[in-house]
Amino acid sequence: RRALGSHSNPSTAFVAARAFSSSATTIRATLFPGDGIGPEIAESVKQVFREADVPIEWEEHYVGDQIDPRTQSFLTWESLESVRRNGVGLKGPMATPIGKGHRSLNLTLRKELNLYANVRPCYSLPGYKTRYDDVNLITIRENTEGEYSGLEHQVVRGVVESLKIITRQASLRVAEYAFHYAKTHGRERVSAIHKANIMQKTDGLFLKCCREVAEKYPEIKYEEVVIDNCCMMLVKNPALFDVLVMPNLYGDIISDLCAGLIGGLGLTPSCNIGEGGIALAEAVHGSAPDIAGKNLANPTALLLSSVTMLRHLELHDKANRIQDAILNTIAEGKYRTADLGGSSSTSDFTRAICDHL
Ligand code: NAD
Repeated sequence: RRALGSHSNPSTAFVAARAFSSSATTIRATLFPGDGIGPEIAESVKQVFREADVPIEWEEHYVGDQIDPRTQSFLTWESLESVRRNGVGLKGPMATPIGKGHRSLNLTLRKELNLYANVRPCYSLPGYKTRYDDVNLITIRENTEGEYSGLEHQVVRGVVESLKIITRQASLRVAEYAFHYAKTHGRERVSAIHKANIMQKTDGLFLKCCREVAEKYPEIKYEEVVIDNCCMMLVKNPALFDVLVMPNLYGDIISDLCAGLIGGLGLTPSCNIGEGGIALAEAVHGSAPDIAGKNLANPTALLLSSVTMLRHLELHDKANRIQDAILNTIAEGKYRTADLGGSSSTSDFTRAICDHL
């Protein structure tokens, strides 16, 4: 099993499928500040980038207040074009009103930009004590179909139906990404997480595709774990796992469970990888309406997500500098936000990170 070694390692993670010129004076990247705590934590990222002299020019896009017929959601076509054009972006959380009948903003982004793999590293932070100090996992979530295909309807009064779609093409694509990731990041094992004993056709096909890809990577150990057992094993001993690949809904749930192992949602970054090399980084957490606008949110998850964006752009010096400043600030313990047991505001914590640059 690969040792954590430097804390810089886990998020060297995101494979750049497209070459960017890091020598350009300024690189344009799309920024969606998002809803709830999104604008506050996006402000932290902008401040840290400014003080670290990161050569990024943000192209900011906001969620509209009317449905754009071209996207069938409140996201405008222009904002999607911005990500396509720039190839990289950072996204704050976007709220999804329940039962309002329009397409979720996150679903729209994932579908329209074909963001097929959501990569969620989760590792114990040095100096921040939780029950385990050896968590070092990567959850890779199929991001375009499964239970989140968005196909729901009423069959007859009192009966509704949601369709879980699994295709060979999307399953092979995410499995290939997971094995390639494991191989290129010194990981030893890929675990496919499923419920094929009950979902025989859908999860059965997902597993068949994972097995097919596993045969191409004999140097990587492969195993299959039923999702309920996986939850139990993760809580008992997270060191049993390395890279986990799974259908959409399971990935959504398991990655929050993993976040809980290291201190909560305020800490876990992610990056969405799309066809053609698009990388749209985002925190795992949502818009946290309970603390929005109060200067209480922990910006770490979005900041670490922005670090993955910098790595995608091969700006490793800047990425290391910012990541070290974040982790050192947390390890020092003087400035921590309330979710980590501290009393710092978002802005004081951000200031402390800048002082550690
Ligand atoms: P949530 O992640 O917003 O919040 C869950 C809990 O974690 C809350 O108590 C919140 O205060 C806390 N929390 C989350 N992020 C935090 C941070 N950075 N710092 C400190 N505490 C933090 O989940 P929810 O309440 O179920 O969802 C709220 C909204 O966000 C919903 O509309 C949901 O659809 C949406 N959502 C969006 C995304 C996304 O944009 N990728 C992901 C998940 C949920």
